[in-house]
Amino acid sequence: MVQVTRTVAEIRDEVRMARRAGRRVGLVPTMGFLHEGHLSLIRRAAAECDLVIVSIFVNPTQFNDAADLEAYPRNEERDVTLAATAGATTVFAPPVEEVYPKGFATSVQLRGPITETFEGAVRGPEHFWGVATVVTKLFGMVQPDVAYFGQKDAQQCVVVTRLVADLDLAVELVICPTVRESDGLAMSSRNVRLRGDDRDRALALIDGLDAAGAAVRAGETDGAEIERVATKAMLARGVDADYVAVVDPTTLAPLARVDGRALLVVAAHVGPVRLIDNAILEGI
Ligand code: AMP
Repeated sequence: MVQVTRTVAEIRDEVRMARRAGRRVGLVPTMGFLHEGHLSLIRRAAAECDLVIVSIFVNPTQFNDAADLEAYPRNEERDVTLAATAGATTVFAPPVEEVYPKGFATSVQLRGPITETFEGAVRGPEHFWGVATVVTKLFGMVQPDVAYFGQKDAQQCVVVTRLVADLDLAVELVICPTVRESDGLAMSSRNVRLRGDDRDRALALIDGLDAAGAAVRAGETDGAEIERVATKAMLARGVDADYVAVVDPTTLAPLARVDGRALLVVAAHVGPVRLIDNAILEGI
């Protein structure tokens, strides 16, 4: 049976004992409402670690919109069962006061384009500062050997990678591929809020990524033209993108030319939901 731990003191004890026994400790940070995307991270952690801790914490500091935080889906009981089935040994589900006790005063803030562009432009850099703060705290609480993140949130991966390097955190990062529904929609806890036609229109994102990928394979190297192709494919589904951009995968700086590895990031509002997706483009 999987253990559900709610306090920092208890998770520390558990990790201390495991480490003393020479066991490798893996952490999969999540906000819960687990789906196959999360489970792929947990399975990977279970294959590589002895103690597999799945944290479930809907982090208030990374929400720029109180209504979005309120609407965020939750089902801890189901999450615990799913996490256990995928190989988790511990679910760490602290209450908000355990993570942000009275008097809490610290914020981890990365400067520059990685927190200010794309999601950081739409939601404000505070979103990524909230992510950076909670990830730093989770690493401090759990002190894992390795932590697992999903490529689905490409900008988050860039931010966390930078954070770990900048603060010399002794955590190995593993970035896992995006898990999709059979029709290509990237799995997300927010997808449950897509109703009726919106579920079909949500395919605009994968259509845009696919069209761009095909253009690159056909020899297109011009960043602006690749963006145009993706935007057009999204519009064909009736979706006007928030952004479509060909960027450097580590700095998120715009790329005029794709002649190596590039990242294509897309975001759009579909009905009541804001969706993001991305693909790696391999230019020749
Ligand atoms: P979240 O609960 O949305 O904060 O996600 C927790 C972790 O799961 C993050 O590292 C996400 O990038 C990852 N994740 C979410 N959706 C997917 C997906 N469809 N495929 C792979 N990883 C995902």
